[in-house]
Amino acid sequence: MNRRKFIQNTALTGAGIATGVSAISCKEANTTSTKASNTATTLSKPNYISISTWDTESANTASGELLAKGKPALDAIIDGVAVEEANEENTTVGIGATPDREGNVTLDACVMSPDGDYGAVVAVENIVHVAALARKVMEDTPHVIMASKGAEEFAYTQGFKKQKLLTPASEKAWKEWLKTSNYQPAINVENHDTIGMLAMDTSGEIAGVCTTSGLGYKMKGRVGDSPIIGSGLFVDNEVGAAVATGMGEEVLKTVGSFLVVELMRNGMSPQKACEEAIHRIVKKGDRYKDFQVAYIAMNKNGETGSYAIHDGFTMMKYQDGKSENIKSDYFNKS
Ligand code: ASP
Repeated sequence: MNRRKFIQNTALTGAGIATGVSAISCKEANTTSTKASNTATTLSKPNYISISTWDTESANTASGELLAKGKPALDAIIDGVAVEEANEENTTVGIGATPDREGNVTLDACVMSPDGDYGAVVAVENIVHVAALARKVMEDTPHVIMASKGAEEFAYTQGFKKQKLLTPASEKAWKEWLKTSNYQPAINVENHDTIGMLAMDTSGEIAGVCTTSGLGYKMKGRVGDSPIIGSGLFVDNEVGAAVATGMGEEVLKTVGSFLVVELMRNGMSPQKACEEAIHRIVKKGDRYKDFQVAYIAMNKNGETGSYAIHDGFTMMKYQDGKSENIKSDYFNKS
């Protein structure tokens, strides 16, 4: 099953669930998710590890193989996500991504380094490798976030190539969408997914990255959680890291990735911390039935966790030469 199909199926499941009986309580969800937490957690510290959102195997394996060669975590993840940014068939990042409702493909990305530095770009057009560009902002400017035309112009000064991101396939899909222009972000689970990747290298240093085109057919100028520090991504090399995917507006309102890292700092496992961050969203009311949010996290021991609101979210893990796709536990089991 390809990723698009997979996510569509998730949407259907979510829609079915929305008409069902009321959601189980947070307490029950905690109990039921413990088994999955064990499957998503490694007990002995790995030599290196890379994890990423969804079934992004080629990107995560690329990162893992670089880590195996002793590359720093930051290099490994930027090169890892570049694989999917360059993949025209992936409609959610880089070239070939789904445009906004006016037909512009605009990309968001951010990175955090083991020393706590951060760089991001938002609403960038014509540049494929926006994660690498976010790193340039972090390392070669006095700023941390650059937007739109300014970010694009900066990219050219750094040697990035101008490339049209709207491919014939993404243009065709957009024109098809225009016929109804039916935009319902609350239930369009299939219209969003992001590559978030976290890695720990052989020196035990942790870095993270997030790259996305955001919500498909979003309003022009809309920015999601992915490029925003603490929401889409947070890394604290003393504690661990977390990255989010799904309905960015909800992640932003709960500063989700920062929350996950702080919960780990206070002693929670990555799994429990992801669960608690999801609970902060679902306890606001029943609206969660209409959208997906998921977190993945790792701590300094290389233990990992993942949790989502709805069924259908998976995490890739590459550890000590082995790649695994881990099905995430989820909240809405009603
Ligand atoms: N979180 C991203 C955003 O809202 C989209 C996604 O992860 O699917 O822009």
